[in-house]
Amino acid sequence: VKNDSVEVYFQPIYSNGCRKIRSAEALARLYDPELGFIPPDEFIPKAEQNGSIMQLGRQVFEKTCRFIRDNDLDSLGIDYIEINLSPVQCLQERLADELLDAARKYGISMDRVNLEITETSTMDSDVTGNNMKKLVENGASFSLDDYGTGFSNLINILNLPLGIVKIDKSIVWSYFNDSRDILPHVIRMFRSQKLEILAEGVETEQMANELAAMGCDYEQGFYFSKPVPPAEFIRYVKKVNAG
Ligand code: C2E
Ligand code: CA
Ligand code: CA
Repeated sequence: VKNDSVEVYFQPIYSNGCRKIRSAEALARLYDPELGFIPPDEFIPKAEQNGSIMQLGRQVFEKTCRFIRDNDLDSLGIDYIEINLSPVQCLQERLADELLDAARKYGISMDRVNLEITETSTMDSDVTGNNMKKLVENGASFSLDDYGTGFSNLINILNLPLGIVKIDKSIVWSYFNDSRDILPHVIRMFRSQKLEILAEGVETEQMANELAAMGCDYEQGFYFSKPVPPAEFIRYVKKVNAG
């Protein structure tokens, strides 16, 4: 983190309404010359414990700002990039100001940014809520990540300025693999609250089609693309959105 060596990969997000790639999620990657790529599931929890998550998060945010500045998102058909926020970041009172400063430094508009928070972040609604309010006032939008894996209070969730709910892959997979049918109910519930739905972990064409029929607005998963480096992401979007 100190060497500024956190890389950012992008995973495309497909819109069923437009039948195009409309956004992407920025995902942190750490490469070690001896160990190779270290998975974020290993280094993010460590960074949250030792406090370096603040610097790591800022690095991912700034590198994503640079990507947004250096590419013509409109001509690619991309509206915004989703960036993950750790609950540790959301609890910092200065978070919103820091992100706004960084966006200003790169000259990008906050409406190019969608921030993903998890259910854990919704539990302290005061600090997180103030940060969200300030960021939304400045044009950013929010997604709730990994829905179905946490212990959040549904009313807290519905009181936050969220635009999209990302249904965790465990709920998506349990529908297709174990015929557990909570997924359609979850989708209906959030749609009735005027939230958009994104299904994670879409791995096959059959899943993609059924999820679209069930009313998912967006889909993300290996069926479309794995997270890839920026240049590869641009090539992929040009190919898919041209057809
Ligand atoms: P996440 O936010 O749920 O990100 C999605 C993860 O699911 C990514 O793993 C992605 O590669 C994986 N994935 C996407 N589609 C599929 C699929 O169809 N099948 C399967 N099997 N997996 C799929 P990744 O990149 O290893 O990231 C793991 C987690 O690390 C992320 O989960 C997120 O919680 C955390 N993370 C990654 N980058 C950042 C970051 O910049 N900041 C923070 N705070 N957390 C991050
Ligand atoms: Ca995420
Ligand atoms: Ca997720």
